[in-house]
Amino acid sequence: MLEGAVAVLPMLAIAILLINMGQRPLTRPPNEPRSPKRAATLMVAGLVLALLGGALVLQRLRAPDWTLLPAIAATMAAGWALRRYLAVFRSHCRNCGARLSLVEILFREQAAEDPTQPDRCPACDRQ
Ligand SMILES: [Zn+2]
Repeated sequence: MLEGAVAVLPMLAIAILLINMGQRPLTRPPNEPRSPKRAATLMVAGLVLALLGGALVLQRLRAPDWTLLPAIAATMAAGWALRRYLAVFRSHCRNCGARLSLVEILFREQAAEDPTQPDRCPACDRQ
């Protein structure tokens, strides 16, 4: 299990960081709304990298595989503590309830002209 985690977690972190790079930049002009989705993916990548660090330490110490479970639990606890910042992805339109596509869930930010209505589908944004 440790070897599997050490093999998979770097690829997962790279995938998350690639998604992060496709999102809106954190630095922005003063009138633009901030990008909570990009901050959330950055935090998730940090959690994955922290878990990878824990797995590498455990592998280096030749710890048994089950010792990865407390590391996973600690990572999940950190994610739970950060849920206010991580739970910014909505799967359905806030206005009409239509299901959003994966690209819209990950990359679509609120309309700049109306920041009080985030995560609306393109049809609601046109109205
Ligand atoms: Zn809608």
